[in-house]
Amino acid sequence: MGISALPRFLVEGYARWKSSDYDPASDKYRQLADQGQTPRVFAIGCCDSRVQTSKVFDADPGDIFVHRNIANLVPKFADDAGHHGTVAALDYAVDVLKVSHIVVAGHSQCGGIKACHDLALNPDSISVTPALSTWLKIVGDEFFRVEGLSKAEDRVRALEFISVMTSLENLMTYPNVVSAIESRGLKLHGIWQDLGGGQLMAFDPGTKQFQHIMKC
Ligand SMILES: [Zn+2]
Repeated sequence: MGISALPRFLVEGYARWKSSDYDPASDKYRQLADQGQTPRVFAIGCCDSRVQTSKVFDADPGDIFVHRNIANLVPKFADDAGHHGTVAALDYAVDVLKVSHIVVAGHSQCGGIKACHDLALNPDSISVTPALSTWLKIVGDEFFRVEGLSKAEDRVRALEFISVMTSLENLMTYPNVVSAIESRGLKLHGIWQDLGGGQLMAFDPGTKQFQHIMKC
């Protein structure tokens, strides 16, 4: 059977969390459980285990509603009723939680973006499932914007930023997002995190570039 009891290392990890992080904050957890969540921010990040958007913003439980998928992508709006996890999370964040900010969070060394780059250069270079291939096309369709760069690492880095921009542009195809922007001032933001260096860059709508949000 594939379904098993929890492995020991996860049980031990839970024991450490319960006695350290949870205990001093137990009143806050109880309050959150009783009163419900009212996060101001909806973060759309990559599944990558090294990405910890809530930690980067020093946020507590209840502060950030998080959705993660491969390469922090938002597809264009499609008016159908498929199993769209990203869209369901977006709809809940915008229409029910009424968050004030949506943050699309990209990152360095993104395996999804690297795969997207390799597939765009040569579809036979790596083996991916149809689901992954279709998903990565959301940003793969933008490959033409980087193909003039001679170094692979520069193209991949540029695609990491473009993945954030594409998701932001695609968010604007959702009627409920546009309506929330116009009626109650919902704001969209893009960030990119350097995993190794700890730096964080944010898209500046004035310069239309990603800028370091502080010197570090
Ligand atoms: Zn990633």
